[in-house]
Amino acid sequence: MPVTFCWVYRAAVSPAFPTCLLRSLLELKGPSAQELKAGKTGDYGHHLSYFACWSAESYMQLHAPEGLPEITASSNLGTLIADHIDIKSNDIVCVASTVVSKAEARTRSLSDFPPGPRATELTAQLAEETANDPDERFIQAVLEESVEILLESPFLLTETRFGHVGVNAGIDRSNVGHEELLLLPKHPSKSANRIAESLSTDQVIVTDTCGRPFRHGQRGVAIGWSGIEPSRDWRGETDRDGRELTATVENVIDELAAAANLLAGEGNNGTPVVVIRDFEWGPHAESSAHFRDINDDLIRQAVRGWTYA
Ligand code: GDP
Ligand code: MN
Ligand code: MN
Repeated sequence: MPVTFCWVYRAAVSPAFPTCLLRSLLELKGPSAQELKAGKTGDYGHHLSYFACWSAESYMQLHAPEGLPEITASSNLGTLIADHIDIKSNDIVCVASTVVSKAEARTRSLSDFPPGPRATELTAQLAEETANDPDERFIQAVLEESVEILLESPFLLTETRFGHVGVNAGIDRSNVGHEELLLLPKHPSKSANRIAESLSTDQVIVTDTCGRPFRHGQRGVAIGWSGIEPSRDWRGETDRDGRELTATVENVIDELAAAANLLAGEGNNGTPVVVIRDFEWGPHAESSAHFRDINDDLIRQAVRGWTYA
């Protein structure tokens, strides 16, 4: 297995070799002897990651393979990915929500959303307060996909049914036909899980391109995940001056999604899948933290009470 040799070589040339060997022997996270005997080779990556994270250098590779076809409701996305790309057991596979939605038949026509009174009211408000001329049917679709409207104007900012906050409930009109809408997957983490069933890795992230407060522009975020914990918890570790970190919970899946999105592109690249290889979690705690709950989200509480003037 060439990758394994590469890890071992890198570890051996590392100045921290004695430490990493010791950590590895202590088997803090790697497979047990029984597991190894039972052929649990999939965990070699974790085992050897102790060599890598203590080595002098660390690399991560991202690859956006070309040649995936137009995805439709009859596509089996997991099998398509597995057939097109040589995926290794420790890879993290990032999939653009656009193609997940297409494969899950989340394409709708505007005519599927006859506007109710609330949609008509919000559309009139948007037309009055902004330079936009939104389609009532689109606003209806946003309402149906949302559990809460955080901002009504100058755009609809809502919480989707699965906990993600985004403009227009993440409904896309790019990379789909005219008069068509693409709703986000219903349960992106379940989608990630399903895709992983066809792959030789269990680590899958479903991404979307999304704006965020305080900064211009959009970037990739993780809206679903499987086989990987969302965050790396540094609390209790120390910085270079020996001070204890008390607040740092690093949202790894968002960081990976942003990197993947950079390579996937937004237009007609045709590269909805990005394989991340050799990402090292390192000897840090895991945290399931991802979407904030309203109770511990001060910004969201403030936005709730704010109106556009
Ligand atoms: P989003 O960020 O999930 O909303 O997805 P985007 O619409 O930005 O598309 C991400 C990438 O997937 C871009 O490179 C698109 O060209 C590509 N893409 C979108 N739909 C398809 C498809 O059906 N087949 C292929 N091969 N690529 C697609
Ligand atoms: Mn999108
Ligand atoms: Mn995108």
